Amino acid sequence: MATATLTIDLDAIAANWRALDRLSRAEVQTAAVVKADAYGLGLTRVARTLAQAGARRFFVAFAEEGAAVRQALGPGPQIAVLSGHMSGDTGMIQDLDLTPMLNSLEQITRHLEALPGHPFGVQLDTGMNRLGVDMPEWEAVAPILIDAGPELLMSHLACADDPDHPLNAAQLKAFHAMTDGSGLPRSLAATGGILLGPRYHFDLTRPGVGLYGGLPFEAAQPVVTLSLPVIQTREVAPGETVGYGCSWTADSPALIATVAGGYADGLPRTLSNLATLWDGDTPCPLVGRVSMDLITVDITFLAEVPRVLDILGPHQTIDALADAAGTIGYEILTSLGPRYLRRYQERTQ
Ligand SMILES: *Cc1c(COP(=O)(O)O)cnc(C)c1O
Repeated sequence: MATATLTIDLDAIAANWRALDRLSRAEVQTAAVVKADAYGLGLTRVARTLAQAGARRFFVAFAEEGAAVRQALGPGPQIAVLSGHMSGDTGMIQDLDLTPMLNSLEQITRHLEALPGHPFGVQLDTGMNRLGVDMPEWEAVAPILIDAGPELLMSHLACADDPDHPLNAAQLKAFHAMTDGSGLPRSLAATGGILLGPRYHFDLTRPGVGLYGGLPFEAAQPVVTLSLPVIQTREVAPGETVGYGCSWTADSPALIATVAGGYADGLPRTLSNLATLWDGDTPCPLVGRVSMDLITVDITFLAEVPRVLDILGPHQTIDALADAAGTIGYEILTSLGPRYLRRYQERTQ
């Protein structure tokens, strides 16, 4: 079989959630962000694992994703929708008991008119300039809106992965200015914000990438292993080239393994001639270009031809691979292709 295997360690996801939960005081709730199919790892399995670990609140990007979480978890857990209440979402928000995080005066009006009394939160823009109600708008609507009883006031940090960035303190200050005295539950921190310390935790934290083994949560347990089967090997003489565009030339006799996996599977083409694959503990360089379904690897120095080579695993995290590709671990995870055979590992019940 030429299908690569993506192994997802659900126990590691649960352990990462517990570890992030322990970083804040006991009275601070820890939610779980499961947008984009739980960062590419499979929403249903991941959401159930996190609910079992103790998560009671889940964040998604869109109402449709929220519907999938409700289907996976049933009634009970709160499901917050970061894009808020878009036109066309009303039925889903009501029927599946989703909690939109309202982002604008338009959304606030839509929600209060369409679903009076239905739970909502408000996302405030404290300086990221992406989503949320800004300061002047908030000053205008806060008195009315606070009476309507939002379940959460939240904002998002733009530079939390850089603890020394001055925008962190500026956003913290703006968030206090907008929410102090409201008496409502508040949330500012995603994974990076949790690591900035207790001043950033408020009542609820919202980790995403740290659950899935990514930076900036350095203490995370790795979650994914990606093993690519070797389809064929070829001896290459000095001076011969490998792959499209002749971008790699052997300077001595080489044994090249052609393995299943390419840019159509989320292995960026920018990894050409840069990535490392692993045979157990032995690193083997990717040589030549990444093509759509295949990559080529120099295995000259291995004692035998391996059945598979790993491109993600204990020796190479999503962030190490992302570095080689010139991107971030988030993008490696959410690009993981639909062609992989997915194996979920779960030791505990
Ligand atoms: C994606 C996202 C998160 C989770 O961020 P991580 O960096 O993955 O922990 C939290 N809050 C909002 C608003 C987001 O968009």
